Amino acid sequence: MTSPSSNPSALASRHRVVIIGSGFGGLNAAKALKRADVDVTLISKTTTHLFQPLLYQVATGILSEGEIAPTTRLILKRQKNVRVLLGEVSAIDLTAKTVTSRLMDMHTVTPYDSLIVAAGAQQSYFGNDHFATFAPGMKTIDDALELRGRILGAFEAAEVTTDHDEHERRLTFVVVGAGPTGVELAGEIAELAARTLAGAFTTIKPSECRVILLDAAPAVLPPMGEKLGLKAQRRLEKMGVEVQLNAMVTAVDYNGITVKDKDGVERRIESSCKMWAAGVQASPLGKMLAEQSDGTEIDRAGRVIVQPDLTVAGHPNVFVIGDLMSVPGVPGQAQGAIQGASYATKVIKQSLKGRDDPANRAPFSYKDKGSMATVSRFTAVARIGKLEFGGFLAWLAWLVLHVLYLVGFKNQFTTVLHWAVTFIGRGRSQMTITSQMIYARLAMNWLKSQTEDAFTAAEHAEQEASKADEAQAAAREKQRVE
Ligand SMILES: Cc1cc2nc3c(=O)[nH]c(=O)nc-3n(C[C@H](O)[C@H](O)[C@H](O)COP(=O)(O)OP(=O)(O)OC[C@H]3O[C@@H](n4cnc5c(N)ncnc54)[C@H](O)[C@@H]3O)c2cc1C
Repeated sequence: MTSPSSNPSALASRHRVVIIGSGFGGLNAAKALKRADVDVTLISKTTTHLFQPLLYQVATGILSEGEIAPTTRLILKRQKNVRVLLGEVSAIDLTAKTVTSRLMDMHTVTPYDSLIVAAGAQQSYFGNDHFATFAPGMKTIDDALELRGRILGAFEAAEVTTDHDEHERRLTFVVVGAGPTGVELAGEIAELAARTLAGAFTTIKPSECRVILLDAAPAVLPPMGEKLGLKAQRRLEKMGVEVQLNAMVTAVDYNGITVKDKDGVERRIESSCKMWAAGVQASPLGKMLAEQSDGTEIDRAGRVIVQPDLTVAGHPNVFVIGDLMSVPGVPGQAQGAIQGASYATKVIKQSLKGRDDPANRAPFSYKDKGSMATVSRFTAVARIGKLEFGGFLAWLAWLVLHVLYLVGFKNQFTTVLHWAVTFIGRGRSQMTITSQMIYARLAMNWLKSQTEDAFTAAEHAEQEASKADEAQAAAREKQRVE
């Protein structure tokens, strides 16, 4: 079923802006057009605006999913020039200037005058997608809830088993990827075991819990530099986290993980709970755009190597922003997406006033506001300009900044409350786990493959039946002629 998208309250003559994605880039672009004389359609495959930097706190029972993922439709409820459409974009036609999205069996074609593509990135397993079955990534609410189920479920299984080796395997947590997400996740699991869960089980001592953070790279937090990386590593090690560097994962299965060290020797780590925080791959929409452009290319991670004005070559009305854009010196961080959104919407507003000359636009320039990562309760590392520091001050700065960037006062308020429970006390407010969290993704993947198999089999049977019908008809015709 295909239907054209229309905004009933809109004037047909208004400039139409379509935004793909409701992350930092997409939401900020929509908000920036609040007072512009345009009709905005924001299309996203999720109903929420996800604050990815705090996903690890959902995975470790500190925050609820609602606190970091408010509903986009409600955030934009009062902005009358925006229509929010749920759907996965499956096609962008740069010639016809349309975007096609799909929700269940409904296909919607939305025309645009200006297009902002902010579809972000997804987890990359570097060509080993089968690792995902046993080592979920950390990109979506589904991922974070599945990890919460697996982490807390591993403690429960360790309490039940009477086998010593199995007890150890259940209490071994492996985080792959020593970037900010991996560091934060490993630190939080160590604190969960040592503080929140200590004394809650009969057969588990906090010291038995092994948290391993491993990476193929030779350093922790490489983008933050050697000094801060070492600081974070020492702090993690003080908390009991085993940091294993120059260690490349070669296999992941139900029972554990196989790792190849720098000397080429492979070894096994038996672990029931593996997590993948190592690498990103841009949305496939990037490739789709590049293929239709006048020479724009994508980089190895699938990001679009945009023009200096963040557009696609030959299409000055098509902007690519955030994690999907490749601009030298701009990291895949929230600020890149926010500043990209601000730049693209300013250009659109200028063009409405007739003040935009696409050939002479001032290029996008990124202001580096620094980066931060928490390591543990009261400890973080931060780099702001040339200033590099760690410890309590960095943690406070991290705390304040993250609260400020959360959308909605209610979410800011409850987040601070839950942080107080966890950081001042020992508790965690979001420790509920369900079977759905642990099994739903695998069950859905299995169901999908079964449906696809059944569909292929039905299609094949239909083709065979049709061939048989044709053969019978031909035989009857031959008999009739004879
Ligand atoms: C675990 C984690 C921790 C992070 N920590 C930090 C941090 O501490 N500081 C920091 O600055 N940055 C951090 N980042 C990076 C930051 O979150 C990203 O740089 C930022 O979210 C990029 O914004 P974006 O709008 O480009 O993409 P996203 O925020 O990823 O949004 C993409 C949007 O596009 C939608 N979408 C994707 N494909 C389609 C499609 N085909 N059809 C329709 N919609 C689609 C998605 O549903 C989503 O709404 C972290 C990222 C992760 C994953």
